[in-house]
Amino acid sequence: MKLLVTGGAGFIGSAVIRHIIHNTKDEVINLDKLTYAGNLESLAEVSDSERYAFEQVDICNRAEVDRVLAQHKPDAIMHLAAESHVDRSIDGPAEFIETNIVGTYTLLDATRSYWNTLPEAKKTAFRFHHISTDEVYGDLPHPSEKTNVEEHLFTEQTPYAPSSPYSASKASSDHLVRAWHRTYGLPVLITNCSNNYGPYHFPEKLIPLMILNALEGKPLPVYGKGDQIRDWLFVEDHARALYKVVTEGKVGETYNIGGHNEKQNIEVVNTLCDILQELRPQENSYRSLVITVTDRPGHDRRYAIDASKIENELGWAPEETFETGIRKTVQWYLDNLDWCQRVQDGSYQRERLGAAE
Ligand code: NAD
Repeated sequence: MKLLVTGGAGFIGSAVIRHIIHNTKDEVINLDKLTYAGNLESLAEVSDSERYAFEQVDICNRAEVDRVLAQHKPDAIMHLAAESHVDRSIDGPAEFIETNIVGTYTLLDATRSYWNTLPEAKKTAFRFHHISTDEVYGDLPHPSEKTNVEEHLFTEQTPYAPSSPYSASKASSDHLVRAWHRTYGLPVLITNCSNNYGPYHFPEKLIPLMILNALEGKPLPVYGKGDQIRDWLFVEDHARALYKVVTEGKVGETYNIGGHNEKQNIEVVNTLCDILQELRPQENSYRSLVITVTDRPGHDRRYAIDASKIENELGWAPEETFETGIRKTVQWYLDNLDWCQRVQDGSYQRERLGAAE
């Protein structure tokens, strides 16, 4: 199979491409604009493969997207390209509207034109897999407000109620993808996943930010009370789930993906501090660096996924627990501090983003 992966130089896209090159015989074309979040270095271990090709293209550029489709003739598209950081969407929503909504529309319409040129068998087998987030569902009851919160999980039927410019733009793109299926018959699949963590995560996100600040003895800024709950999934488990969905998923269906790992942000930060204390012991505990800062405006209180559909229908389950995955992640950052330095390249100094002050 020949797969076109958009956003393949990003955190999850690069994990997907590494997974495909290492574990299958498929070919991959990586279509990526290379924004601040895209780094080809994350693909160094697979970029020499004859089954890998790179195209530096913006998904909003219709002519270039048409060219790539005509030239490479993919059998399926996995669409991950997006602006992905909630805090940046608060400071500057325009790029989120452009890439996540207009870009997804451009890609969908170009795909429809290409798909219509395919011979019948290839047309039937073709898949457009849109990779989305659980943030489209808004937030769930939090244990501080309600008992038995474990009964409240996001299912594929949960109504959309996005809170941030980021999640609203992703929700819009999900709607476009469903409309292209219903109206034009494009064979689509959608996945909505919880928070990912793991190697090659850009240092603006909670886990790498805390690891790098801690190692430099800088404050560890926790938003509000730090009691927001996320359902953490190791990125390589997500990559395996995505490959299963694009190859075995049922056309028109949505699959929620999650790790059964509900943790408060403060618990995550304390865990990171404790693992660092073990791996890089220092006199003052890393926990003493934790400070609280003004909360993110509109901050969702709790996300948690019911992943039973993908587990029952496609036989996927995460291989990592939070405890094993987070340890691997900390070790990876300790071993790859040079990658972290290079991707920050002077334009981002781990400053506070999205405070909307
Ligand atoms: P990321 O920010 O690390 O990577 C995004 C990639 O898209 C980058 O390589 C960037 O260069 C590329 N890109 C951005 N704009 C582009 C454009 N206009 N044209 C072409 N390429 C462009 O993001 P990520 O964390 O890897 O997330 C990938 C996808 O998964 C996103 O769609 C995101 O919404 C979704 N998702 C992320 C998470 C998470 O926890 N990170 C969870 C669920 C879903």
